[in-house]
Amino acid sequence: MSLTVYNTMSRRKEAFVPREEGKVFMYVCGPTVYNYIHVGNGRAYLVFDVIRRYLSFKGYEVLYVQNFTDVDDKIINRAREEGKTPEEIARYYEEAFLEDMRALDVIPPDITPRATETIPRMLDMIQALVDKGYAYAVDGDVYFRVESFDGYGKLSGRALEEMRAGERVEVDERKKHPMDFALWKASKPGEPSWESPWGKGRPGWHIECSAMSLHFLGMGFDIHGGGQDLVFPHHENEIAQSEAYAGTQPFVRYWLHNGFVNIQEEKMSKSLGNIILVRDILKKYPADAVRLLALQTHYRSPIDFGPDALDEARRAHERLENCLFALDAFLAKPPARTAPQRTQREVELSDSFFDFERRFEEAMDDDFNTARAIGIVFELVKELNTYLGEQEAYQTLAAPMVTSHGRDTLLKLCNVLGLFSPGRETAGDGEVKAEGAESGGDMPGPEELIELLLEVRTLARNNKQFETADLIRARLRELGIRVDDLREGQRWKYVGPPE
Ligand SMILES: [Zn+2]
Repeated sequence: MSLTVYNTMSRRKEAFVPREEGKVFMYVCGPTVYNYIHVGNGRAYLVFDVIRRYLSFKGYEVLYVQNFTDVDDKIINRAREEGKTPEEIARYYEEAFLEDMRALDVIPPDITPRATETIPRMLDMIQALVDKGYAYAVDGDVYFRVESFDGYGKLSGRALEEMRAGERVEVDERKKHPMDFALWKASKPGEPSWESPWGKGRPGWHIECSAMSLHFLGMGFDIHGGGQDLVFPHHENEIAQSEAYAGTQPFVRYWLHNGFVNIQEEKMSKSLGNIILVRDILKKYPADAVRLLALQTHYRSPIDFGPDALDEARRAHERLENCLFALDAFLAKPPARTAPQRTQREVELSDSFFDFERRFEEAMDDDFNTARAIGIVFELVKELNTYLGEQEAYQTLAAPMVTSHGRDTLLKLCNVLGLFSPGRETAGDGEVKAEGAESGGDMPGPEELIELLLEVRTLARNNKQFETADLIRARLRELGIRVDDLREGQRWKYVGPPE
């Protein structure tokens, strides 16, 4: 099966053919580290995490680069407000960003360069652009001259003439065209600055991404991603300066952009005061519910992150989790002694698991249609729940094998989407999740309390107080926790309250 992706440049879906067979080189614009990230930005990192996971699932070797913009007006202003240095602000919010990404189970990029560590490469690029006549210096600033680059506007579909017509009143008279953008900015006293042929200054935002992506991935790399708000001017400018610098094209083979985030049908924005931070959402909702919500809509469409949508996603996540619990509980049952070998129904069900996988891949091959893929995952959940229901009455000899195959298929598909990532607490692996995860800091988790009860139970049994030991086991069972006495000791598992 072959992958097609929607390319913002051509405005249509194209067959995905990477620069080098079997390899994908991708770059996603990283955060400007002056604040905690909100769900609008969070969505982009979740989307590209899944794209990356899926490319790996397809067998591609992926190299993923994502930068940190750690020098910027916003960082400087924030530092001034808080009486800190811009570097302190940048490092603090960089760490906070990494924390949020870990909490969301986003796989770390392979390379995360900081803008401030790539300045010499930016200076080389700017000098070359000046030498070739694509850029000019004015009072210590250097601007890219948009009229010198033929394809300016090709990504966003804008024509330069329209941009001049729509220009605002306050135009910088020093620029040759109102859309000319800064490659280098002279720094004011007290601002972070680096030596350059044009005096002390710092890079403009756009040149950072070109310098870093070209350095690590080379010209004509495969995927450049980011939110739709970056198409113009950021990515348009990246193309102009990169292609002008290299003298070849394309800078990037496929441009992928994710849609906006709304809150209760209103655009999330500072002016409306409805900005929601990733870390605030994670205080109330499990990471997998947030991920499920982000993926239930196609990545290019707008998405609503209001409380109703989040509650709905939490319920969907619970359905998934309950199915895994039920599968595990079933697999823990003793096998049937006298039972039919295998029913026709089980033969068909086993075959259907391959069909689910195939349909899932078809959906994802269609421009990473996670919405359709998740629909297929829930069809599988329904199928498995029905099968388990049927097994209440009898158990065939093949039942454990069929159930196990179903469970593996479900987890495999979930893992491609980054759900129930290995290493994270999953259903039925002998651990219990604290409900709502809102317990106070020093309260012991349920695991510790269960272990404590089991210690008491062992003591009771050693003292031949079997009534007490049985009572502990029975009461735990009522709470949904099953205790098995194995040769190597007691083992417990959360299987859900008895029917
Ligand atoms: Zn960028």
